[in-house]
Formats: sequence, C-alpha cells, structure tokens
Amino acid sequence: MSRQKYAVVDIETTGGIPKRDKITEIAVIIYDGKEIIDEFQSLVNPERSIPPHITRITGITNEMVEDAPKFYEIAKDVIDILENSIFVAHNVRFDYQFIREEFRSLGFTFTKRKLCSVRLSRKAFPGLRSYALGSLIKYFKIEVNNRHRAYDDAWATTIILGKILDLQTTKKEVSDMVREGIKLTKLPQGITPEMVESLPESCGVYYMSDDSGRVIYIGKSINIQERIKQHFSKDHTKANKLLRKVADISYELTGNELASLIKESYEIKQVMPEVNKIQKNRHYAYAIVKAEDKSGYFKYDVVKADKTESALSYYNSRKSALRHIEQITEVHGLCMKVNGLDKGQTSCFNYGIDKCMGACIGDEFPITYNERFEYSMESINRIFEENFIILDEGRHKDERCVFLVEDGHFQGYGYIEIDLESYGIEELKESVHYRKLNPEADLILRNHMWSHPGLTIKYF
Ligand SMILES: [Zn+2]
Repeated sequence: MSRQKYAVVDIETTGGIPKRDKITEIAVIIYDGKEIIDEFQSLVNPERSIPPHITRITGITNEMVEDAPKFYEIAKDVIDILENSIFVAHNVRFDYQFIREEFRSLGFTFTKRKLCSVRLSRKAFPGLRSYALGSLIKYFKIEVNNRHRAYDDAWATTIILGKILDLQTTKKEVSDMVREGIKLTKLPQGITPEMVESLPESCGVYYMSDDSGRVIYIGKSINIQERIKQHFSKDHTKANKLLRKVADISYELTGNELASLIKESYEIKQVMPEVNKIQKNRHYAYAIVKAEDKSGYFKYDVVKADKTESALSYYNSRKSALRHIEQITEVHGLCMKVNGLDKGQTSCFNYGIDKCMGACIGDEFPITYNERFEYSMESINRIFEENFIILDEGRHKDERCVFLVEDGHFQGYGYIEIDLESYGIEELKESVHYRKLNPEADLILRNHMWSHPGLTIKYF
C-alpha cells in the first residue's frame, strides 16, 4: 500500500467571505509524510479588483493578476493534483470553503477529506501561546521568504505537518489523528470513509437504505456530508439502528434550505421509512381533523399527526391545536360542546352569551350547523391569504428555485435558469412541479418566511 498523501493548500483571496470574495492565488504541495512529491502554484485572476488593504497584506496587486488564468482555467489542474490525497490547510475551513465555492460557481460539487493543521498542532504541541501560522513559523524557526504568499505559506504548513507526523511513533497514532481530524469513528459495515467523504457538502435531502435497497431513513441538511457523519458518531438508539442497518446512502441536491425542508416532508410522508417513524419529535406531531358526533354534527378533533391521512392543519402541541379550534369555534359561531371544548352537562358557555346557536341542546339542526362548519373549514386550513412566488438559490449559480403559493396553499416548487428570473408569473409558474397539498409543507414555508425576512417574494 502506498503512503497516505497530503495536499497542503494555501490560498490568497480578495477578502474573507467565500460567497463574496474570490481566490487570487493558490498553492498546493503534495507531501507523503516524508517528502514533497509534487506541487502546483498559480496566481488567479479574480475578475474583480483587490482592495488595497488586502494588497498590503499579501503583496498581490491588480496588475499581478491581470494576465493570470481565471479559476476555471486551472480548475482541472487543481482537481488533478488534489486527487487521492487528504486536503490539509492551516485553518482548513477557510481555504476549503473558497475552493468549494469556486467549483460551485462552475457547477461542480467539490468534496475532499480534510485536516486542519491548526487543530493538529494544538494536539501535537500543547501549551503554545498561539497557533497562528506566523507564530508556529517563529516557534520552529522556519525560514520563509514571502509570508502571506500562497506557496510560502503552504510550504511552511508542510514543514509543520511533517513535524506533527514525526511526533507520532506508530502508524496507528497517525491514523487515529487523521481519523479524529475527519471525525469519523463509527460507520456501518458497508459504508467506507471514502463514500462518506464523497458526499456533497451542500444543501439537500439524503436517503439511507438497507442491504435490500429499502429506504429506512430520510433526512435533510444544508451540509449533507457533515450531517451523515453526525448521524453515525452519536450514541443513541437511532444512531445504533442506522449503524447496524445502513448499506447505502444516496442524495438529491436542492440548492436551498427551504426546498430541502419541503422535499424531506413529502418524501417521509410518501416512503414512511422505519427509522423516521421511531422519531418521536416530528415538527408537527398533532393535527386537526374533521369528525362527526353521534347526533350528526360535524366537529373538529385533535389527533396524532401520524394517525391520519386527512389532517386539516398541523400543530406542535395538542394545546395549540385546541387553541385554534377555540378561535374557529368563536369566529364561526360553532358549538363548544360539539367541539369538545366544554364538558358541561347542559348547553355550552357560548350558548349563554348568544355565540352558539344551540347545537349542544338540539336547538340547531345538523343540516344548518354543518353548513357553517363546512364554511369554517376554509379558514382552518387556509394558511396564506395572498398568492405569491418565492425565488431562492438553485442547485448551481445559473439556476433559481421557484416556490408557488396559490389559493391559500403551497402548490409546489421547481427550478429555472437564472436569466428567466425576470419573467412574468405565468412563465415562472410553468417551472413549478405541482404537488399534492401537504399541510406540513404549508407550515414549513410559513415558518421559513417568518424566520427569513430577506426572501425574494413576488405577489400576484
Ligand atoms: Zn353550544
């Protein structure tokens, strides 16, 4: 077996935010724990100007990158040199996110096993005052010519990585450290670390199936790979069940959180995977349904959400469901007793104050009462008062996701190319894949809107 390869990476950028800023320089040094076996470096034209305060740190000017290749021109070289190695960087999150974002904007999903040399240094050399690259360079008296240029920083990081690996006297300790670095301790028998590391670190829905191909768990996350690791590293009944049974993991990207929440809701309802079923805390555990009492009056009942196919609306608790029934009863002049809100022997409280027309004592017949009840049903399940479309991020940078709300409900979602974004409502609606009405999806969408006031919404 050949030695483990480490790709020590350093990048310089136009700033600190991966979704906004761009790479101006990249260096990759391939190190096998003993020596450097390959390397790659290039300035990168970021296609925007470098702020002066950044140039002061890195020494990289706009003139220097003017004729440099753009990222897409070196993308293949970057992939090639990183192949079969663990991605290492000093504060790996930074470099990794930038590179991932560059690939994302080209329509590719970039995933690698990764290690952080800051974290490893803390373990290997405890008690230092600072683990910043500059501090470690000083501490180990490493000679570096151009601090804050990609190659020199990557080179210094490689020297430090060498010192970390040297410290480990046996192979096992090295591999334990690598394992710890990638936080993978337990995996189901049929799942390899490589399979997990090849899952995208993007937003979507994932499916775990057993060895007969049956889906036993469906979940969603804004980072599928990270969430899958968490599933197996926990120690409780669900994790253990998954560890025993999962033989394969697949996924579908959604591009944004809202689509993954909604997709998960639909898929769980449709597939009813056995491990999802044992989860007690689904978001909306209670539902209101329409029922009929012995005398033929329609009434609202609160039931466990998983016990019904015909929920009118969903709730976090029995209490909040009852509160909604109370409101509807009040507004539509329904009977408290018929709806189970008044347990008294005679007429209901509302009858006494002329808000109930007497279904409780047979004063009003079912035929007229039920008519008002039917009318009240429209308001119990009408979640949205207006028709509108929400535009959110798509699965790649040239795409947008379109969510449609019409006639009081979420109707479905779909994807469009970004240049169609300015189209009229009818064109946008054509991209929508209509779904069966799903009260849970209505609530997911409403809650998401409440917690994300910055969404792009077009009313019609
Ligand atoms: Zn009454």
